[in-house]
Amino acid sequence: MTFQIYPTLEIPETLAAGPGPGNTDARVLQAFSNAGVADHMQGDVLRGMVECKHMLREIWGTTNTYTFAVAGTGWSALDTMFSAVMPGDKVVAFNNGTFSGIDTLTLRIKAATPEEHAANPLDPQAASVIIIDVPHGQSVTGEMVEAALSEHKPKWAFMAHWETGSGRINDLRGFSDACERHGAMGLIDAVSSLGVEDFRIDDYPGIAGWASCPQKGLCCLPLTYAPVSFSKGYIDSLKSTGAYSYVHNPIFEARHWGIVDGQDVERGTYHRTHSGYAVAAFHESLRLTLTEGLAKRSASYRTHEKVLRDAVSAMGCEVTSDMPSLLVLNLPPELAGREMELVQNCRARGFGIWPTLSTPVQVRIGILNQLNRQAISQIIRLFAEAMCELGGTVDFEEIEALLESRYGTSIAA
Ligand SMILES: *Cc1c(COP(=O)(O)O)cnc(C)c1O
Repeated sequence: MTFQIYPTLEIPETLAAGPGPGNTDARVLQAFSNAGVADHMQGDVLRGMVECKHMLREIWGTTNTYTFAVAGTGWSALDTMFSAVMPGDKVVAFNNGTFSGIDTLTLRIKAATPEEHAANPLDPQAASVIIIDVPHGQSVTGEMVEAALSEHKPKWAFMAHWETGSGRINDLRGFSDACERHGAMGLIDAVSSLGVEDFRIDDYPGIAGWASCPQKGLCCLPLTYAPVSFSKGYIDSLKSTGAYSYVHNPIFEARHWGIVDGQDVERGTYHRTHSGYAVAAFHESLRLTLTEGLAKRSASYRTHEKVLRDAVSAMGCEVTSDMPSLLVLNLPPELAGREMELVQNCRARGFGIWPTLSTPVQVRIGILNQLNRQAISQIIRLFAEAMCELGGTVDFEEIEALLESRYGTSIAA
């Protein structure tokens, strides 16, 4: 076989209606492509990073000095957050779906001793990590956290804020309060809540570390920056233990964002080569979030989620999620078992909905940055057509009447 150079890769526009990535705002893409070529120590790139840091603190409602962002995706931020967890550290971690499941694997990797790694290198069974499995489709409650922390008294406690695998909201207040009561440092996977939910880090003093992502609520996919925030207690712990990472050590990584020795400094210092394009895009997405305001955005998610929820319920689907940016549902009994087929049909047509990634198989439909009548109506119609194609029955007149009654007068946009 002879090798030929491939033609230029063309990727079509799809309707991103899954759990993420969200629809990157056109203004973010424009900022990305308008940035000039500039190195990572150029003055405006460094200024942009410092401005991003300040905007992030505002969006996330925190005075944590160690609030910045890690180059990469949600897992990059999570890896950074978990870097302070050392072999043998006692951890209580809640698993209620695909993503918190992977987080608990990361925690076992970090906390495993060399012997535990050698015994099972890809799935180390760290004795010091206590995993509380909560069934798919259920939320982690404050009572569950209280019971586990009072029994085990760990150094670290972990939970996902919103478990995107099953679309469930976990109890952040209960988690933070239990961490405070039992002297645990809380760690939160906030990958799918930042930029969607209106909450403030500083209202949750039991939580020492937060990790999020660029591609969901912040709508900034062009591989950019995954936000993190750490309390003083977290940084003090890290200072005393060190971490087995150069690039994902929060103390090192923060330097490029102008955070040195716990203080803001005017100019960042080298940690790694940052991209001026990515900084410009991320900066724009934070500006857009602040301009719109989280209170307004989160109310808008709830409004549109309710329309979508009621429409698919009218089609006979059963919604089992409670996240305002994502529906997770079972098809009506006559189509049960054909979830994967339906999702694949939709995806083949550029309508990007998702199945669940772990059992049971359910359908996931997301509305990230789809907060208008036209987008929600299109998602509903495409989904209805996909159900009909499989032989389901949909009363299209009823669906159109529902859309008209919700959007016709009060919430036009
Ligand atoms: C999407 C998601 C992740 C992974 O984020 P990537 O950007 O794919 O790295 C982790 N945790 C949760 C809760 C998520 O929703």
